Amino acid sequence: MKQVIIDMQGFKRDSQFIPKEVVVLFNEDEYFRFLIRPPCEFCELTRKQQNNVKWLTENFHDLEWMDGTVTYKSVQSFILANVSKNTIVYVKGLEKSRWVEEFLKDEVCVETIDDNITLKKLKEKFPNVKRCAGHSLTCALENVFLIRNYLKYDCE
Ligand SMILES: [Zn+2]
Repeated sequence: MKQVIIDMQGFKRDSQFIPKEVVVLFNEDEYFRFLIRPPCEFCELTRKQQNNVKWLTENFHDLEWMDGTVTYKSVQSFILANVSKNTIVYVKGLEKSRWVEEFLKDEVCVETIDDNITLKKLKEKFPNVKRCAGHSLTCALENVFLIRNYLKYDCE
């Protein structure tokens, strides 16, 4: 079985998740990071949606709505080309794993890590994993390495 870990950070437009930073980790250390371009201009969002976007940027992940150049579809195709029926994709949290299942069109087995241990706790345990230099706060790259360590080492 091939192990893949995926994490993503993004925005919400009403109830729809809009991915921005998507990181895929193959074989424990081979990672690919994508910044997906937005589905519309910032000014096309409603005032309320704009406020939600700004809040997430400033308080949660420091990623901008307009960041990114690759398309949603190209990221989807890349991942689908590199997984198979024998791949297990690990995702932390139920909401994210549902999104990944849909994103990967049910082509792979998605395993949800829904234990009590939070990413925050894992960060205390593994404070020096790789992360992006270009943004602060929550980082999908950091998250996949935290999840990797969680799967690799025994964590209570
Ligand atoms: Zn990052």
